[in-house]
Amino acid sequence: MIEEDEARNKILERTPIGSAVRIPLDEACGAYLAKELLATVDLPGFDNSSMDGYAIRAADQQNFETLRVGGEQPAGPVLPLPVAEGEAIRIFTGAPIPDEADAVVMQEDTQVEEGADGERWLRITDPVEKGENIRACGGDLCVGQKILSAHDLLTSSRIGLLASQGLDWVDVIGSPRVAIVVTGDELVPVGRPLRKGQIYNSNGPMLQTLVRQAGAKVERVFHAKDDVETVEFFLSEALEHCDITIVTGGVSVGERDLVKDRLNALGVDTGFWRVKVKPGKPFLFGTRGEDRLVFGLPGNPVSSYVTFLLFVLPALLKWRGRVLDDEKATVPLQKFKARLLTEMSNPGDRPHYIRGRVNVERATFEPLGLQESHAVFGLSQANALLRLDPQVELKKHARRDVFLLDPAW
Ligand code: AMP
Ligand code: MG
Repeated sequence: MIEEDEARNKILERTPIGSAVRIPLDEACGAYLAKELLATVDLPGFDNSSMDGYAIRAADQQNFETLRVGGEQPAGPVLPLPVAEGEAIRIFTGAPIPDEADAVVMQEDTQVEEGADGERWLRITDPVEKGENIRACGGDLCVGQKILSAHDLLTSSRIGLLASQGLDWVDVIGSPRVAIVVTGDELVPVGRPLRKGQIYNSNGPMLQTLVRQAGAKVERVFHAKDDVETVEFFLSEALEHCDITIVTGGVSVGERDLVKDRLNALGVDTGFWRVKVKPGKPFLFGTRGEDRLVFGLPGNPVSSYVTFLLFVLPALLKWRGRVLDDEKATVPLQKFKARLLTEMSNPGDRPHYIRGRVNVERATFEPLGLQESHAVFGLSQANALLRLDPQVELKKHARRDVFLLDPAW
């Protein structure tokens, strides 16, 4: 049995970083950039107005009571409308600043009077400084400037930035193809009738969701009955077609726990089996060749869930190009400092991941539901995990970091 950190380090040592792929920009949110990017378009690309108003020569405000409105410059075309002395040009947000203009008065600070000859005259009620309400060419960024680094996460705002550069594709680090193999004679697929003694396969849909949330692709899903041939067949299919195989169930010590031997028969080296964590002790990690990873998760749903977060998620994120803040292989979940609403103790010899509820406004944490590895309802109510070290007692009101689950908007 090995320690949790050692297990995670061993996994990450064997996890490659994916190779670059070119994908459409509108599919790139959540991916990590493959290489640094330089700006190819100035932003703004030309001096333009930040207001609906009037482009003027600022100095004219001292010399003229009113300015003759000489024309109209909308956003889009560049019209030949240089501003003559004593003149103003009607202008709209985003429109290019006419030649000779050096300020824009917002329309709320003006009055327009129409003369008998149809001429329009502008009176400025609140004078502007030279340069006011003009967004200067290159003021935000200039051609050649670095805009993103390799391994940067593409967020919605960065997709916007790349679009502002005219890109309709982007080179990102590819994600692994993942196979999920659930094992168990007792399992019934959702949507089918349940007989006594049977249970629904809840790990399958849960793990598919977790893999997708981690940004990887679920390419194959198999359900293997607990017999040697079937387990071996589906594991070999998974290893053949996918970079990462996630098996649940069948990794414990019972006679029907066939996974470890079948993996070995298929040429998988067991990196380690059994980790000092609760829940999740029977967790297994193996590799085949340089580029096939296998994770054996215990069948109990909470153990499956927790070991996915502790050991599979870091590997998926590394493959996809996420760089850890520090070099240490920590759990890639957001931490939150919370005050405990009850005392807690762990008399055991393994760290215990306690499921519970964080109240973000009050910064409190409270354990919740059955803390047993089959209890999916309790897990479903939890929004945080607290790692309680072995032989530790925590007092009520102690402040501890907890890991946030499923960050939601
Ligand atoms: P195992 O690791 O195969 O010994 O399974 C441990 C426990 O988890 C047993 O009670 C199984 O019935 C249950 N279990 C295994 N696989 C699943 C699954 N896919 N969905 C829900 N429960 C499961
Ligand atoms: Mg089983």
